[in-house]
Amino acid sequence: MFFKKKLIFCAICDKQLQHKYKPLKNWDVNGYLCNDCYLNKLKIQYEKNNLRNCTCCQKQQIISEMWEPRWEWNIEGPLCENCFSKKEHDFQHQKNFCSICDNKLGFIRYNPKEKWKIRGQLCKLCWNEIKLKNG
Ligand SMILES: [Zn+2]
Ligand SMILES: [Zn+2]
Ligand SMILES: [Zn+2]
Repeated sequence: MFFKKKLIFCAICDKQLQHKYKPLKNWDVNGYLCNDCYLNKLKIQYEKNNLRNCTCCQKQQIISEMWEPRWEWNIEGPLCENCFSKKEHDFQHQKNFCSICDNKLGFIRYNPKEKWKIRGQLCKLCWNEIKLKNG
């Protein structure tokens, strides 16, 4: 009888192991892992630890792939790419178009008075009109 070294196989993919990697306790894996499975597990663990909900649609994503909202939006927390670009589009629109008549604003724009409770900016016509009505 030849002395045979006991072969060890990866607990996940059953590959024979040259180098064995000990799984972390919280992975719930019995035995050892190959390099690939080990790295894969690490990656999954990392992603799990770094998932965040989009502040807007609640979709879960990895934080590094999410976007910080602009401070003007009054949003606390990260946004997914979808929500960010939607907000960005609205924001750019609001910046460049009158909030009342939706006409493109020129270089000179008018900020509504606070008591008017209007978001965004106004063209001269709308501003004057509201001023007449509300003072
Ligand atoms: Zn493996
Ligand atoms: Zn979202
Ligand atoms: Zn207007």
